[in-house]
Amino acid sequence: MKDDEFTYVVRCRTCRAQFNVQLFNSHEKNLFLVDKRDWYCDKCKKAYFSKQTEQLSRTHQDIGFPALDGTEKMISWAEKIRAELINKVNYLRESLSFDSEKARQQSDRAFEMFFKEWQKQSTAKWWIDNRRMTVMDISKQVKKLGEASEEDG
Ligand SMILES: [Zn+2]
Repeated sequence: MKDDEFTYVVRCRTCRAQFNVQLFNSHEKNLFLVDKRDWYCDKCKKAYFSKQTEQLSRTHQDIGFPALDGTEKMISWAEKIRAELINKVNYLRESLSFDSEKARQQSDRAFEMFFKEWQKQSTAKWWIDNRRMTVMDISKQVKKLGEASEEDG
């Protein structure tokens, strides 16, 4: 059996380089594969992801978050998780309504404290370890911080 019986030649959309993709055992899957037009070679894919990571990292640094430590792969993943988690916090914050101005201010303070905690986290590993954090988890933590700050006066 020759290898090229099971591969299909495509062209990278970015650099136009030709490369082989593996064909599947299933005829249907192969039809889908042959119809697909957006192919990117490994080099361009890598460049795309590192550019995306760089952009996320810059966005996060603009809002007070540190650059992350870790391997390139971990940082790339962690930046995506960090973006999602920050979105969850912002979603929660926007979804809240308050009975009084005092309650609103207290909530704002709690969210600030919460973000400050996150802004201390500078390892990719921390974000990856916390990737399953839900809006509910975040809500509980913010509430705790709010109650603690009320006790402080
Ligand atoms: Zn390419």
